[in-house]
Amino acid sequence: MILMAEPAAGRFGDFGGRYVPESLVPACAELAAAFRDAWTDKTFRDELDELLAVYAGRPTPLTPARRLSAELGITLWLKREDLAHTGSHKINNVLGQALLARRLGRTRLIAETGAGQHGVATATAAALLGLSATIYMGSRDIERQRLNVFRMEMLGAEVVPVTGGSRTLKDATNEAMRAWVADVDSSHFLLGSVGGPHPYPWMVREFQRVIGTEARAQAPSLPDAVVACVGGGSNAAGTFAGFADTTARLIGVEASGGAAMTGGAPGVVHGTRSMVLQDAEGQVAEASSIAAGLDYPGIGPEHAHLGAIGRASYRTVTDAEVVTAIHRLARAEGIICALESAHAVAWVLREAGTPLLPAGSKVLLTLSGRGDKDMVALSEGAEA
Ligand SMILES: *Cc1c(COP(=O)(O)O)cnc(C)c1O
Repeated sequence: MILMAEPAAGRFGDFGGRYVPESLVPACAELAAAFRDAWTDKTFRDELDELLAVYAGRPTPLTPARRLSAELGITLWLKREDLAHTGSHKINNVLGQALLARRLGRTRLIAETGAGQHGVATATAAALLGLSATIYMGSRDIERQRLNVFRMEMLGAEVVPVTGGSRTLKDATNEAMRAWVADVDSSHFLLGSVGGPHPYPWMVREFQRVIGTEARAQAPSLPDAVVACVGGGSNAAGTFAGFADTTARLIGVEASGGAAMTGGAPGVVHGTRSMVLQDAEGQVAEASSIAAGLDYPGIGPEHAHLGAIGRASYRTVTDAEVVTAIHRLARAEGIICALESAHAVAWVLREAGTPLLPAGSKVLLTLSGRGDKDMVALSEGAEA
């Protein structure tokens, strides 16, 4: 069944798998076995649930967006991942993987980060569990996201600038995977989204499933549409997992400049086969978005599959629509969301009242994070 069991050989239809150097195959296999074991171990699950509750602040609320709903002629519920510790859904996955790393006897976490949100969450979990953390970040992103670099360092992590390639997330991910190869016995590669080689797409979706499970139980009735923004696709995958067995339509919203589903083609990136933005030679192309967290040329393989079989659909919005959406949500509901999350909001603003979202539709939208990190860019007039 989709979005449920462990995918056989890590494959989601034509997508997924494990395309890594031979030296990483044993580590991936060990990780898959450890996760399989931990996920059915009540002690592990209880410890994670406890941390999610007393440390990360779960369950996050489902907030009815009353004024915006009235303006749009729909019923809109917001799943508030912006209220989770460190300000986004990333903490759900990071706490799970950090506990797993400790279970495997690893003492060091290695992670990639783009905007810095995943790096901050990883540095946070490392501090909490007494592990060390090395975070790879493109030097261009370091310049753009000084505040998050400072937060990571304050939490005790080492931030390593990556100066090759486009000096952004794609290159930071390459470097982090190289660092893992070099220290595979004592480190855990803590990937931040539902990409990468098996078991990551499955494991990260399972760690994010808590979003969808909570939202399903909190929703007053079954939504007609479930909407989430998509970078690599982890907040969307976790949300969709809670509604996969219902009739709710699942909609992922990508940045128009990073639309792997709409503008990409099948290819291999960072150890998995999925939809990837590519140039004419098949090289991984640059993504560009106002939201650094969506500035990624790939998408998780399960999304590629859900799109291929028509269970989920993927749409795009422009940077200009996103800037309008973040302001409109702030004024209507008193919530300043992340630029990433504003992609989902922008799609709902555009489509409410159209055949895609007819008047009276019930819509559940995951607000993946809070907007504090984006205030400087917005105040400097980040426009499309
Ligand atoms: C990282 C991030 C995203 C994009 O990641 P997904 O894996 O697609 O969820 C979206 N929103 C916020 C707030 C983020 O920090």
